Amino acid sequence: MDIDARSLLKKLNIQPVKSLGQNFLTDRQILEEIAETAELSENDTVLEIGPGLGSLTSVLAESAGCVVAVEIDKRLVPVLHDIFIGYSNVHIINQDILKMEVQKELEPYLNAADGTRRNLKVVANLPYYITTPVIMKLLESGLKAECMVFMVQKEVAERMAAGPGGKDYGALSVAVQYYSRPSVVMDVHPHSFVPQPEVDSAVVKLDLYKTPPVELRDRDLFFKIVKASFGQRRKTIVNALNNAGYLGLNKEQIRTMLDKIGVEENRRGETLTIQQFAQLANMVYDIRNSRG
Ligand code: SAM
Repeated sequence: MDIDARSLLKKLNIQPVKSLGQNFLTDRQILEEIAETAELSENDTVLEIGPGLGSLTSVLAESAGCVVAVEIDKRLVPVLHDIFIGYSNVHIINQDILKMEVQKELEPYLNAADGTRRNLKVVANLPYYITTPVIMKLLESGLKAECMVFMVQKEVAERMAAGPGGKDYGALSVAVQYYSRPSVVMDVHPHSFVPQPEVDSAVVKLDLYKTPPVELRDRDLFFKIVKASFGQRRKTIVNALNNAGYLGLNKEQIRTMLDKIGVEENRRGETLTIQQFAQLANMVYDIRNSRG
């Protein structure tokens, strides 16, 4: 049976807060598919962001060794404590995920009672107003997670998984694909939520790399170059990089580098692969460091 979030909210006298992205998932089949996508076992600790009324939390707790659920809304914390009173493997933390020291706070939950170390997985029906900052925070923090499964706005899922050349490919695609292999698992219609969001949703899985797919001499420089290349979509890569004055590159230097990696100078940034961005960034690094 699906979750009757409307009655539960009424009984608890709680109004969903739009600014916190409170669209509760009520379709049991989708909740189960999300948990299955994460391939949970007793050896896993799950970080859930935004447990809300606990519907996804309870499905996760059936298979995972431990679930740590981080909820910002104080009103929902006693509700969650009541729901999970009989569960020894569910821990509720009342915090803003964007302010939390995630790795440090999760540490105690990663050690199983028998002394073994559990794998970390992240699963969330994310509040859409902070989708990108949350995902980038988790990826950039070097969190040692095996995979992350997120319900996000459909358009964002497509951007994360897009390859070079298409309209969806951008700085977010390159950033996510530097840390992980993304795949869109399923589309989800607004009627699966209470209240219904104004956009279509999708579940995306990120399988995290142990070693990134490209070697970078300077990660910040790589992301600056990616940002500069996508910042001016209608410009050729030569003009986009030349206009990013802080990179300190003249057109001749840019043309020479592009020639070395076999990219024609009239190409646009959004046609470059992550490997080509990496080659470019490493050459820029070498030029800068040979200036003395
Ligand atoms: N997991 C529930 C479900 O699937 O029905 C609720 C998902 S709802 C889309 C997003 C949840 O994230 C809400 O419970 C909201 O209060 C919570 N939330 C919003 N911003 C947050 C933040 N910065 N840190 C932690 N939780 C947050």
